Amino acid sequence: MIPEISIRRLCQIYRLLERLKEAGREIIFSDEIGEKTGIPSYQVRKDISYLGEIGKPGRGYNVSELFEHIKSSLKLCVKRKAVLVGVGRLGSALLNYVNLPKANFEYIAAFDSDPIKEGKSEGGIQIYSSGEMAPFLKKHNVEIGVITVPQEAAQAVADDLIKGGVTGILNFAPVPLKVQENVIARCIDFSLEMNILTAIKSFVQEKAEKKK
Ligand code: NAD
Repeated sequence: MIPEISIRRLCQIYRLLERLKEAGREIIFSDEIGEKTGIPSYQVRKDISYLGEIGKPGRGYNVSELFEHIKSSLKLCVKRKAVLVGVGRLGSALLNYVNLPKANFEYIAAFDSDPIKEGKSEGGIQIYSSGEMAPFLKKHNVEIGVITVPQEAAQAVADDLIKGGVTGILNFAPVPLKVQENVIARCIDFSLEMNILTAIKSFVQEKAEKKK
């Protein structure tokens, strides 16, 4: 198993390569990948080596080849079926933003407990009532669930998603989820990231002031 942190960096490299490929770039060296992603170049080489052999020492990487290699190794080429639960302010913004043709997932439905939202659509995605979720998930083999409900409702929604066969959850509610071992749940917490950012910033500023 590739370490999670390496998967994160490989996804960053993949995004960079996508942009370079579109711009017509043919060759890139690990040093430049490092400069453009902020990942040390030795780490770039190490992470790429987890996926098997590619590129020749001293000749750099062929951009398209490396892009395709990462794509197939990390199975980013597989389009996963996803649903979003909680079509409020954040849920609506996500439905309108991420439903891009290039993404490796596609929303096939959204669910909300508010009857006023039932039958409407957001970002081109149909909103169903929460009661319809269980049979829908089973029927359509949905793999991914995105949770954008208030935190009090997040665990129950996660449990329902899992019962319906979902094995990957992206949770935006600021609460940790309890899930079984075969389910991957990742939390995205804007406030937590802000806390981390400002804390690091304070330390860096303090250090700089001491040096003066
Ligand atoms: P909101 O109140 O605008 O929307 C919540 C929606 O969820 C509503 O449409 C509501 O009807 C629906 N809902 C409530 N319970 C439900 C249930 N059991 N099943 C299905 N739908 C249900 O809230 P918001 O501002 O969009 O925030 C949504 C969540 O995202 C909150 O938990 C909030 O804390 C979190 N949030 C996270 C970030 C981040 O960076 N991760 C940023 C903003 C908000």
